[in-house]
Amino acid sequence: PRLNSFGDSHYEEDESSINARRVADHYSARSNQTLEQREASPIIHLKKLNNWIKSVLIQLYARPGDAVLDLACGKGGDLIKWDKARIGYYVGIDIAEGSIKDCRTRYNGDADQQQKRKKFSFPARLICADCYDVRLDQYLDDDAPFDICSCQFALHYSWSNEARARQALANISALLRPGGTFVGTMPDANVLIKKLREAEGLEFGNSVYSVSFDEEYQQKRFSSSNPFGIKYKFHLEDAVDCPEWIVPFHVFKALAEEYDLELVMMKNFHEFVNEYLRKPEFTELMRRLGALGDRQDQSTLTQDEWDVAYLYLAYVLRKRGPPPKE
Ligand code: SAM
Repeated sequence: PRLNSFGDSHYEEDESSINARRVADHYSARSNQTLEQREASPIIHLKKLNNWIKSVLIQLYARPGDAVLDLACGKGGDLIKWDKARIGYYVGIDIAEGSIKDCRTRYNGDADQQQKRKKFSFPARLICADCYDVRLDQYLDDDAPFDICSCQFALHYSWSNEARARQALANISALLRPGGTFVGTMPDANVLIKKLREAEGLEFGNSVYSVSFDEEYQQKRFSSSNPFGIKYKFHLEDAVDCPEWIVPFHVFKALAEEYDLELVMMKNFHEFVNEYLRKPEFTELMRRLGALGDRQDQSTLTQDEWDVAYLYLAYVLRKRGPPPKE
């Protein structure tokens, strides 16, 4: 078999597409919750915190009129956030057909909603595709370049092998304009590996999440220098239950640079919250979302939810080159 630059066999690619399908099936099968079900979720306040973090990122980096590419857009949970930022155009892509269908319903409104809710103020295209396997410019020739690309809680699904990680970054770089922004959130590998080292076995977690590495990948991690394909199983109550991959941040940063994407900022969620919650406009937003108690310093998250937040980081990269003249 052909070897990639890290000495791994080419056969891994087949396993990768099986894993990609497993991830897609998992997300496709998750049905839309009613408002009551959502409020009863054991991680409702974590979900609100995650929404706050994505809203802050969008408010910090999107400008009115921007063309937005939302990679792994899911069910379109961020559509309203983009609408508030008064963007001009939106393309959402996700591998899970069921999610794209829900996203379309959310964008168009279902029969009842159409009467009640104002339509989104921007035109949108929704596409079902594997963002880490194919060249996306074949679908997006007339839509690119984009001012901003967002990939929320999803880039780590590209790290199952080097080819997929590269395809993800190649797509982002090819579709962003010079000076364009790439914003995202993903697991913080430093925290995951630190917790694995502190754990008794290959598993750790609390009442709402668990992370487990298998023997095979544990051995691989310490016996090879391949920073791709380090798999673990992630379970988050009422949200996720599928294979994921470690993204060593220094490798991500170096690989992104190869694709002309320069790091602007990276913060673990705990640091992110501590920094941006001080700003009055974002405190108010946190309160409106229901993730802040009556006292300013009092979060509504349980300790176990707050511990999950520590597993994630937010990043911002910028595509090299001068922005076009206004
Ligand atoms: N970005 C959305 C959000 O923040 O609400 C969804 C996040 S969800 C945790 C992860 C999403 O990544 C799922 O919708 C899943 O289908 C999508 N995904 C995973 N692998 C993908 C791939 N190869 N191409 C496109 N989407 C992918």
